[in-house]
Amino acid sequence: MNAQFPGPRHLIFDADDTLWDSNIHFLEAFAEFSAAAARANPAANRDAVAAAVRRAEIELIETLGYGRRPYVMALHRAAEELATNGSANRLHAAVERIGERLCTRECPLLEGVAETVAVLAARHRLVLFTKGQRDEQIEKLARSGLTDYFSRVETPREKDVGAYHRLIRDAELRREHTWMIGNSPRSDINPAVRAGLRAVYIAHPHTWELEDEELDASDRIVQIGSFRALLDLF
Ligand SMILES: [Mg+2]
Repeated sequence: MNAQFPGPRHLIFDADDTLWDSNIHFLEAFAEFSAAAARANPAANRDAVAAAVRRAEIELIETLGYGRRPYVMALHRAAEELATNGSANRLHAAVERIGERLCTRECPLLEGVAETVAVLAARHRLVLFTKGQRDEQIEKLARSGLTDYFSRVETPREKDVGAYHRLIRDAELRREHTWMIGNSPRSDINPAVRAGLRAVYIAHPHTWELEDEELDASDRIVQIGSFRALLDLF
């Protein structure tokens, strides 16, 4: 089948939960922390634990940005708040174990990603645009085996409209030929469209709740149900 938008195009990709699983690992880490916190302080129910982690997370995002190591720091801060006098050391030790696993585990590529990216890279110029700590994201990209397919990797603190304008300028992208592809309405789709690009939304069942918002009503957004369906577009 011929591609709907034949190239060459500039295709900007999100990474977490677009190329590989990510948020599910944070959900699993939270579940383990929540269980450990309940053992350390029987009065700490799941809602109290969730609220303590969220407060710490949002504070740390402001100074450190997004990522696995900042999340582990947030768990330590929440542990301070939740542990009783006698249980603090045990809870911090549990956070160390949870954090070690969160920071070192594999991020398997999502279905169809490896072969689809390889085909697209032969036809188009690919750019990676992902939040998170730069060294952490570069390392995940290296482990994914996809590094050579991307001509540029940018890791901004936030992916807001201004960040898209800067990317368009710095990478010399032509708006009319450039698409953003990702799973987050808040960081991938809406700001890209507001910056004059077009966007492909690929929903992921475990998208982080802070990334979720209504998609803009725009004929510049295409929704597809699988990563492989990118080959029908480009
Ligand atoms: Mg994402």
